[in-house]
Amino acid sequence: MTDILNALMQVLDEGEILRTEQDIASYRKDEACCFQAPDLIVLRPATTNKVSKIMEIFYREGQAITTRGGGTGLAGGSVPDHPERAFILSTERLNKIRSVDPIANIMVAEAGVPLQRAKDQATKYGRDIAISHGAVGSSTIGGNISTNAGGINVIRYGMAREQVIGVEAVLADGHIINAGMKLEKNNIGYDLGRMMIGAEGTLGIITAVTLKMRAQQTHHVTALVACASVEDTMGMLKFMRDHMGDDLSAFEVMSRSAILFCCDYTEVKLPNLNSSSPWMVLIEASSGRSDEALEVSFNAAIEKAFEEEIIHDGVIAQSEAQRHSLWALRDGIAEAFSGYNRPFMRTDMAVPVSKIPDFIHRLETDFTRACPEAILIAFGHAGDGNIHINLIAPPDGNDHVFASKIPKFALSAEMIALELEGTVSAEHGIGRTKRDALKRMISPQEFALMQALKRSFDPKLILNPGAILQDASSIERS
Ligand SMILES: Cc1cc2nc3c(=O)[nH]c(=O)nc-3n(C[C@H](O)[C@H](O)[C@H](O)COP(=O)(O)OP(=O)(O)OC[C@H]3O[C@@H](n4cnc5c(N)ncnc54)[C@H](O)[C@@H]3O)c2cc1C
Repeated sequence: MTDILNALMQVLDEGEILRTEQDIASYRKDEACCFQAPDLIVLRPATTNKVSKIMEIFYREGQAITTRGGGTGLAGGSVPDHPERAFILSTERLNKIRSVDPIANIMVAEAGVPLQRAKDQATKYGRDIAISHGAVGSSTIGGNISTNAGGINVIRYGMAREQVIGVEAVLADGHIINAGMKLEKNNIGYDLGRMMIGAEGTLGIITAVTLKMRAQQTHHVTALVACASVEDTMGMLKFMRDHMGDDLSAFEVMSRSAILFCCDYTEVKLPNLNSSSPWMVLIEASSGRSDEALEVSFNAAIEKAFEEEIIHDGVIAQSEAQRHSLWALRDGIAEAFSGYNRPFMRTDMAVPVSKIPDFIHRLETDFTRACPEAILIAFGHAGDGNIHINLIAPPDGNDHVFASKIPKFALSAEMIALELEGTVSAEHGIGRTKRDALKRMISPQEFALMQALKRSFDPKLILNPGAILQDASSIERS
């Protein structure tokens, strides 16, 4: 340890190494709060070359290190779980937007740039970075690419992976790869940079990313509608796709219980809807054109859906302020869980879109049998099949008893999702919370291939050990 610290002090400036309890406290957890890191030393290099030098030292010493972006992850990926003192490499000082090229439509941003700052920079050129979710202000570009983040616009633009042109990364031994950072076309066989996407810091440390910029959507039309059944929400998805085509930019399904939960645990107010329908959908269409055509066809579609009784009630935002208050309802659901201090089950599931109704009905039956008073809260970007199934304790129930049932509930929800050809890791990643589930989602051959990949990128198993694959000791060291 002393050797490593001495070597680090040759490479890093004061302020790039944090050691006091006060300085490291905020690095101990992520938003999943499942793990609490042990004693930490936090490194905050400001350049790719410094990251490379750090890794040369760590590779030589065989010392483990975990990369951290904004710490907003929901799978424990950025929280080292070694019993002894652990090292974190924070990307917070790798925070430059290196270039914006509006002709090629690309931006080169360092890994620690907060997502919102990258989007704001793109806006100055009439463009956008098409990744949007509830942690847009505090998550980083590196974190979003490392977890292959999803969010509200996947229905239109795909996952974070689809927004990437090139990746600059530092490998376990300090070597820097940066092939094709400015090239949309660059077929050179295996794309090593892109292997980092979704790898959660286990194959290399992303230091910069070339992102695709999309045309900025300046005009949005937004509605909150009520449906009598989950089948009707899916009917509405087809209906809106038929009528709005590629202008459909968000389709967020929420159970009524999710909305009531949000209003109970945040400042968000229930919108003025007469309906007590069990399902609500937040629908948005967006366009870069500032004409009225979008609004006319959106309003006509909502009206027609009403006439055809696919929806039973609804409100269309008449101003930007109203649009924000509708979105506050959706964003507030995730936020409400932060203010809820009783036990609850959190999941990140997706099933093929056509199977969402079957999925929900089977879960309802299962949970009603196991714990009739528990409240099922379902919400998510269901337009892409993603639905977060959360379960909260009965209002007057015994928290201890409910908490003891959670692992069984989670496993049974997982079995249902997998039987329906779904996943239990739709967008948050495997991290440390879903390592066991990963083994149930892929074949032993695929798992062995993942281990082999890990070994060839990281032969000394020093990059974020314990994330994605079970603890490092289960992979034979080379
Ligand atoms: C309120 C809220 C809403 C959210 N909504 C969504 C959502 O809709 N969709 C969604 O997908 N996620 C969502 N998330 C989860 C989270 O914001 C994303 O997973 C995000 O991508 C994490 O980015 P981060 O910078 O915080 O990464 P961190 O949490 O710091 O790290 C996440 C993982 O990436 C690795 N990592 C981070 N930076 C690097 C790097 N430079 N190189 C290599 N590895 C790295 C870490 O080791 C860790 O394994 C939400 C979170 C919150 C709190």
